[in-house]
Amino acid sequence: MTDKRVYNFAAGPSTLPVEVLKEAQKEMLNYKGSGMSVMEMSHRSSAYAEIFDDTKATLKRVMNIPDNYDILFLHGGATQAFSAIALNLMQKGRADYVVTGNFANKAAKEATKFGDVHIAYDGKDNNYTHIPTQDELDIRDDIDYVHICENNTIFGTEWNYIPDTKGAPLVSDMSSDILSRPVDVSKYGVIYAGAQKNMGIAGLGVIIIRHDLVKPHKENIPVLCEYDTMVKKDSMYNTPPTFAIYMLGLVCHWIEDNGGLEAMAKRNEKKAKLLQDYLDSSDFYNYPTEKGSRSNMNVSYTTPSKELDAKFVKESIEAGMTNLKGHRLVGGIRASIYNAMTYEGVEYLVNFMKKFEAENK
Ligand SMILES: *Cc1c(COP(=O)(O)O)cnc(C)c1O
Repeated sequence: MTDKRVYNFAAGPSTLPVEVLKEAQKEMLNYKGSGMSVMEMSHRSSAYAEIFDDTKATLKRVMNIPDNYDILFLHGGATQAFSAIALNLMQKGRADYVVTGNFANKAAKEATKFGDVHIAYDGKDNNYTHIPTQDELDIRDDIDYVHICENNTIFGTEWNYIPDTKGAPLVSDMSSDILSRPVDVSKYGVIYAGAQKNMGIAGLGVIIIRHDLVKPHKENIPVLCEYDTMVKKDSMYNTPPTFAIYMLGLVCHWIEDNGGLEAMAKRNEKKAKLLQDYLDSSDFYNYPTEKGSRSNMNVSYTTPSKELDAKFVKESIEAGMTNLKGHRLVGGIRASIYNAMTYEGVEYLVNFMKKFEAENK
């Protein structure tokens, strides 16, 4: 039990900017004179329509999304999009997937249910510590799209270039690095993300799709997966995740008020560098992720033993930090340092790590 806020390094749901939480708190009981909270509003009311439209417009400004892209706010997080993207975009029934980690693999597996999926690269031999170069990608001709996972949340790798797809639309799962740096949206066919990492809270999947890729849906797919229907209904075929959309709006305004994505990228680089430089300089911790493939959002590393990993996690909790335990697939330690994690938070972690190293060497 604690009466103050901890440094929360969770991979998702994850820490939110305090300013955003305070704003939501201020507006909780009576949203701008409506006499009710956002949670209690009809999604068809004019008060909610304003929130919805403003969230969309703000996200569009922040990411510089061109006019020929549709923005969808849907249920089901990123995982629903694994299915929906294959169901909507596989017009010829052929897609290539680049497997750089667990979620990339899950997306490929799901798509296999609906068409001919070719694995253009699989990083399992290097334990997903490496993002493939262009030469390592085996991309077929005449496919519907190429799918990548931009940032691998578990293994802590991130794409640092946009691959050449031989003209096929590029589909990117940006769940864990969207809004962390500027992206040229026009280079992508689809960008999608679960909101609970860097965009807000759980329950919302954001889909940014180039309009010409929104085709009449196949007859036999679930209605909530029909992207053309969702575009036509502006994400309101059924009740959308109203509060999560509102929170996304607050987060987008917070980003704008703090200098936009350029400023976020600078902050994130500075934070990540502090931790990564220390890891590289230490002969106690092992940080296997290849230089050039490293993520500024998730940093996965180990101490010299499983016992020390467990001790690290236990003592980090006592020191006021949470969720530093690595994903069950890889063990070790993982620090997720999304936009809302402060520089002070990372500094606090690094100081703790230095002390832990000195005490356990
Ligand atoms: C968390 C995550 C997912 C899964 O997101 P859900 O919203 O839980 O479906 C998918 N891809 C990546 C890269 C993630 O980090």
